[in-house]
Formats: sequence, C-alpha cells, structure tokens
Amino acid sequence: MGADMPDEELWRPRHECGICGVFGHGDAAKLVYFGLYALQHRGQESAGIAAGNGQGIVLRKAMGLVPDVFSEQTLQQLPGHLASGHVRYSTTGASSPGNVQPFMIRHRGMELTIAHNGNLVNSMTLHKRLEAEGAIFQTSMDSEIVLHLLARELVRHPLPEAIARALGQVRGAYSLLLMTKDSLMAVRDPGGFHPLCLGMLDNGAYVVASETCALDLIEARYLREIEPGELLIINREGLQSLHPWPPARRSFCIFEHVYFARPDSNVFGLNVYAARKRMGAMLAREAKIDADIVMPFPDSGNYAALGYAQASGIPLEFGMIRNHYVGRTFIQPSQSMRDFSVRVKLNPVRELLAGKRVIIVEDSIVRGTTGRSRVQSLRRAGAKEIHMVVSCPPTRYGCFYGVDFPSPKKLVASGNTIEGIRDYLGLDSLHYLSLEGLVEATGLPKEHFCLACFNNEYPVPPDTGLAKEALDEGRQPLSPGL
Ligand code: SF4
Repeated sequence: MGADMPDEELWRPRHECGICGVFGHGDAAKLVYFGLYALQHRGQESAGIAAGNGQGIVLRKAMGLVPDVFSEQTLQQLPGHLASGHVRYSTTGASSPGNVQPFMIRHRGMELTIAHNGNLVNSMTLHKRLEAEGAIFQTSMDSEIVLHLLARELVRHPLPEAIARALGQVRGAYSLLLMTKDSLMAVRDPGGFHPLCLGMLDNGAYVVASETCALDLIEARYLREIEPGELLIINREGLQSLHPWPPARRSFCIFEHVYFARPDSNVFGLNVYAARKRMGAMLAREAKIDADIVMPFPDSGNYAALGYAQASGIPLEFGMIRNHYVGRTFIQPSQSMRDFSVRVKLNPVRELLAGKRVIIVEDSIVRGTTGRSRVQSLRRAGAKEIHMVVSCPPTRYGCFYGVDFPSPKKLVASGNTIEGIRDYLGLDSLHYLSLEGLVEATGLPKEHFCLACFNNEYPVPPDTGLAKEALDEGRQPLSPGL
C-alpha cells in the first residue's frame, strides 16, 4: 500500500512558483530549462517553457519535475532566441494539467504567453466582471485573468500601454513574465512581494529569474533586482524600463528569507544564507539557554542553527541524519513501528544525543505534527533536555499573496499560546524570534516587508470574497479596514 509521506515538504507552507526568461541567445529554451532546474524548490508540481523565434511561439509544458517534463528531444522542439518558463506549485486553481503555465493566447494574430508567481487578491471580483462581459475562462487560475484584461486593452492600445492598463486593474502579488514572438516583458507588482532579478550572459543576452541562483547556474552576471512597480520590455531595440503604476508601500515577503528562497540566492538585495545566520544569532541574543549542543532538523534550520551556535558558543552538532533518497510515497510498515514516516527521513544519532541537553533550531513551525514526532524521536534516543528555538515569530495567519499555508485552523500557533505549543510538542522550553529581531536580521526597515502571517496586517487588502472565505474557514479576522 502506498501512502503519502507526511514529510517536511507536505507539512510546511508550499513555495509559490518560479519563473525564468532569456532574451538574445540561440539556446534560449535550454538556458531557461537550467534556470528552472535551479528554481525547482519553488514549485515541483509542473513545468513549462515557451520559446519564440521572431516568427511564432512554441510551448511545451506538463505535470512533473523539470527533468521529467523536458528531455533533450523536447528542448529541440523549442527553437528561438527568446524563451520564458515556469515551475509551479498551485496556490490558486486546481492541480491539473490545464492549469500548467506558461499560458498562451492568440489575439488578433498575436501570440502572447504569461508565467506568473504570486496571487491576485481581487481575482474573484475581476473574474465575475469579465464573465459578465462575455469572457470564457479555460482554467481556474488567476493568471488567466491578466490575459483577459490584456486582450481587452490590446483592442485599443499598443502592448506596453495595454500591459500598464491591464495590470492597473489587478491587486496583489505578481512577478510576471510576458512574451510575444519577439519581445520578453518582466513585471513586478508595486509592493514587490516576491523577488525577480535581472542578469546578463557573456553574449549580452538578458536573463530574468525569480532568484539569483538561476543566474549562477547559467553563468549570467547579476545586474539588479527588477524594481517593485517596474515593467521591463526587452526586444531587439534593447531594454526599456517603465514605471507605469503609482508607487506603493514595499511589501517584500519576509518568508522568502525565513524559509522559501535558496540560501545561495540574493533576495531583496540580501544574501539568504547570511540573513538566516543572523536570525540564528538574534535568537541566541533573545533566548539564552544553558545546553550542551545546538542542532537543526536538517536541512531547514541549518543556517539559523549555525548562527545560533556561533553567537552562543554552544557547539553545533548534527543530531539527526537525513536520508536523501526518500521519495514521496513508500510502503507503510505495520502499526507497531511508531513514527515510521518521520524516522525514514531523519534518524537520531543516539551516541551523540544520550544524556545531552539539546537546543533544536527550526526555521518555522506550521502544523507542528512532524516536529512533535521528531521531538519524541530525540527523547527515545536519550536526550536529557530538549529546547527549541524558532527563527521567526509564531505563524498565526494565512497568506493571500501566493504562499500556500495549511488551512489556518491547522496552524498550531493559531489560537494557541507559546506554552500550549511547547506542551503539544513535548519540549522543555520553546522560544520564537521576535518580529523586531526577525526584521533586524535582514537589515531592512520593517516598512519594507509584508509580515501579515505573523501580525495580521495585510499590506494589500483582499477583496471581500477572499476575506469572507478566510473568516468562514475560521481564520482570525483580518486587520481593521479589510
Ligand atoms: S503573508 Fe507571510 S507568506 Fe504571505 S507574503 Fe506576507 S510574509 Fe509572505
């Protein structure tokens, strides 16, 4: 009997999506393929690449991981000097082949593709309006709304103005790649929720990617972040930068630094590895604990654990060893094998843990179920005391901006006290990093971040449908004014 594995990939919030585009290289699709490979952590459900050669666009996409979707043969079917790609984990819309991105439409002889990272917060209102006006939707994705809005504006306006007018009607989080047969356009929403960066290859080709780790893999030089509220148009004439929307409050998703982004990436101008280490150091300052060893549950807490150990002077050890070859499903053993699904992934080192006072450093606690089993596993391995420090505040609220948390009712911190969570996890003590400490670790001002899943202050209010849905699901009421 196969069973879904309740490993950290399934009990943690899901990454949103990753996007990558190249303009000006004969092997554009292959470069995008490698870029998506580097961004695989941002979405494992599906992958797609659209390629243009000045004459038309070819699109290949399917459910699965990047190397499963694309072979050498598939990539040969994607010729051209520009390409854009997408890896996805669904945050809106069902998990189905019809929702795999990029999407392509044909409008009055023009082919246009879109690849979207984020989530629109007024999608229900726009969807209803567009349907009332006669639009027929082919998917359940909010990204398709952008294409419908764009098609309407293209009737009266040239492409750059049509994009500006169409996106002027949407609200929320969107890092986008749009592509015609001869132009690549990159957009970041005015709040700049999710990252998007610009790089250049040796031959002068431009690369746009969600994270800098994609630039590194294809040896592109990092040029800069695409700015919040910026529309970049890249074509044979070069690169044009427009800021067609009114400036807005910065709303960088701080969870990118806590958990989502790869540690070798620079996000919002900061290296993720260094930021996570500083979060650990902040924790050591805020939560002083007398203990023998500091350890992460690999790999999530590794960098914060290193920061905590260096700042506290307590040695860093790896008290749990990860099996890197565990797939998503496996044969369940008999009931008597307690916590099998936890131990198959992480196994404690008994000789190291026996009789020790242990500090576990975690990057976040969401549901707490897996953490609880891991703590029990450490106890059975002989740990004398188990303390946990977490490199962010309690996650109590949901996300409307493209990050898929478990149902808020299942967030262990929702409606619970720290003492209640400590008791549930079976710990001797539990400490969360303060919101101030988290922000200080980034070195950026608090006003630059979205912190809504911690403080319930949503920088871009969702439309009434989404807000009502949240309340129906038992989430905390949204901030005043929403
Ligand atoms: S609510 Fe949390 S996860 Fe969502 S964008 Fe804001 S900080 Fe990121």
